[in-house]
Amino acid sequence: MSGISENLQAVQRRIGEAADNAQRPAQSVNLLVVSKTFGADAVIEAAATGQRAFGENYLQESLDKMATVESARPDLDLEWHFIGPIQSNKTKPIATHFDWVHSVDREKIAQRLSDQRPDDLPPLNICLQVNISGEASKSGFAPEAVIEAAQRIASLPRLRLRGLMAIPEPEDDPQRQRLPFRQMHALYLQLQQQLPGLQIDTLSMGMSGDLDAAIAEGATIVRVGSAIFGTRNYAKQ
Ligand SMILES: *Cc1c(COP(=O)(O)O)cnc(C)c1O
Repeated sequence: MSGISENLQAVQRRIGEAADNAQRPAQSVNLLVVSKTFGADAVIEAAATGQRAFGENYLQESLDKMATVESARPDLDLEWHFIGPIQSNKTKPIATHFDWVHSVDREKIAQRLSDQRPDDLPPLNICLQVNISGEASKSGFAPEAVIEAAQRIASLPRLRLRGLMAIPEPEDDPQRQRLPFRQMHALYLQLQQQLPGLQIDTLSMGMSGDLDAAIAEGATIVRVGSAIFGTRNYAKQ
């Protein structure tokens, strides 16, 4: 017994409680299960509970895993989200194999993903990553630059801009965790106002350690790994 389904249920309860506390419907928060460093068997086990959306950070690992899952369980209709750092020479396989990309962190990457998205697939759903804590080591648009960039990126034909994503600096205090999430929510509202014709409906923020604070501040997708699968044996970021 690996406990994956129990952990998933516990995370769903946590999401429900946080949504309740924020007087939001629980269905307004979607769970993205982050399966990086865990194998195809872990994905299949999580999928058995009805989970469809999985997040991955490392391209080669994720392509191998997708192929293994697909050959073992062609009946599963999973949705794959790329959430890791993107090198510009790796955009083609990302544009080909993923349904969503949360980590678009510069215009050049958006342009390449649009150019390389295969014509027989629907437009690629994307979020722009915002460096909300202003960390030198983190990628993402500066908060003051993201709205203008979004206006240009929104016109790329093979992308569908859905919203914003952030990974704030780690912070243990639940109250202090809320500040960067609140700033992200303000940017998200600004984006919706600036791009009224688009379906800007996604604010991707909150992980195992801070999903409650993120939901309190309006997250619509929380990305959760270790609370479901346990501690990762290696962490490349
Ligand atoms: C690894 C990762 C997560 C999941 O983090 P946990 O703390 O394991 O829940 C979420 N988002 C991104 C971008 C990640 O790289």
